[in-house]
Amino acid sequence: MEYVSTRNKNLRVSAAKAIAMGIAPDGGLFCPTEFPRLSHDEFVQLMRMDYKQRAAMILGKFLTDFTAEELQHFTEQAYADEKFGGKDTVPVVSLAADVHMLELWHGPTCAFKDMALQMLPHLLTASLKKTGEPRTCCILVATSGDTGKAALEGFADVPGTKIMVYYPVDGVSPMQKLQMVTQQGENVEVVAIKGNFDDAQSAVKCIFTDKETAKRLDEHGLMFSSANSINWGRLAPQIAYYVSAYCDLLGAGKIQHGQTVNVCVPTGNFGNILAAYIAKQMGVPLGKLICASNQNNVLTDFFAQGGVYDRNRPFYTTDSPSMDILISSNLERLLFFLSGQNDVMVKEKMDALARDGRYDVSDTLGAQLAADFAAGFCDDTQTAQTIKKIFDEQKYLCDTHTAVAVHVCEQYRAQSGDHAPVIVASTASPFKFCKPVAAALGHPIDTDGTEQLAALEAVSGCKAPEPLAALGAKTPRFDRVVDKADILSTLDLLL
Ligand SMILES: *Cc1c(COP(=O)(O)O)cnc(C)c1O
Repeated sequence: MEYVSTRNKNLRVSAAKAIAMGIAPDGGLFCPTEFPRLSHDEFVQLMRMDYKQRAAMILGKFLTDFTAEELQHFTEQAYADEKFGGKDTVPVVSLAADVHMLELWHGPTCAFKDMALQMLPHLLTASLKKTGEPRTCCILVATSGDTGKAALEGFADVPGTKIMVYYPVDGVSPMQKLQMVTQQGENVEVVAIKGNFDDAQSAVKCIFTDKETAKRLDEHGLMFSSANSINWGRLAPQIAYYVSAYCDLLGAGKIQHGQTVNVCVPTGNFGNILAAYIAKQMGVPLGKLICASNQNNVLTDFFAQGGVYDRNRPFYTTDSPSMDILISSNLERLLFFLSGQNDVMVKEKMDALARDGRYDVSDTLGAQLAADFAAGFCDDTQTAQTIKKIFDEQKYLCDTHTAVAVHVCEQYRAQSGDHAPVIVASTASPFKFCKPVAAALGHPIDTDGTEQLAALEAVSGCKAPEPLAALGAKTPRFDRVVDKADILSTLDLLL
């Protein structure tokens, strides 16, 4: 299987090369040239497998320059029982006979980013070896919370790599900060930047493009790479859990063979829902892919208007911060797929986005967008009401991001009359967002740090995940705060 850039089909590389490079030199994103189909026999095999085996088999369909043994070894380490609280890596919990929560947050950092970031270090280090890259790989991450911790946990003490995370000093939740500054590992660094997330992000982008810095690193035998979802190595592992969820529902007798199941995903960068789209192209009987946004509803408008993307709008800080985003980078891959790999068109639209903050694909792709996708959004008030409602009615506690998806799912069903069974992606533990969750239940919390966990436990009767509870006993290791103008000097920490 070969990979091409969304902006230039003539640039063809192997999977290992695509993962090692992260992003194409023309700024495009690497995509497979075709979607492998799952045969009936393979489906039968998948039904009998555990999650680690399923993930290895799905990845093997895309990463054809990796051996089955290699991938099986990686998934066994990435999704080890002791990291995911047992054998049930991604439990499917039914809220109703036809609403199934796919809990993607049982990994070490309690958010769905672990599903990809536990795998990426294995895929990346193997890819560097396969492509003959001798240098040590330095992962730079700007984070608003979840990605930073998940990347730290994934790359900690991985030979041949170093990782450096920048977070906005006042822009992450107390729990997220505690998770990052207590991170163990000899190859990790965490730095707070004075400013907001955008400042941290632009500062990191400056480092990436600074020629002098690249030269200096090279002299020390180092190179840069990225751990966000523009890297195919982060997207590919996410396809597996949609295939696995379908198998689980079938195995539990909750759906019939071949029955269509919808999927609803709380969406920010469009990575998670794109993985569901790819699972559908592989032959999993998925129906509508329902894209759920918070008040930053640029994607809702995109689908409502049949393909007009316009980021010229106010940015809102919400109770579901991991979805506070106005440029959903993986949408570029969807345009590439839907247009029959029209790289010229994608490049033109992405240039327009960079130039005008806007593009329009409604005339060519409108009908296809409507066939596969539905979309809706949910503000903070509706998010809180949803958390309370499903807790009162179902005794099920969910986080703010997941509540956005549950609300939009109900909205879709009421408006469309489509009551096909639905898989709702549950993306974070409610204990990562104690304050808004407890407030939604009518019990505001005014403490910071790990006391919040006990407060939410008392209110909900649910137990906080072990990795969060353990933070209370950990000593902070990183307290460096730098001005964004001084970010280059922090690279000395890597040398
Ligand atoms: C990152 C994240 C999302 C958004 O996922 P995308 O792949 O960026 O669309 C949703 N919920 C949580 C909790 C996240 O951390």
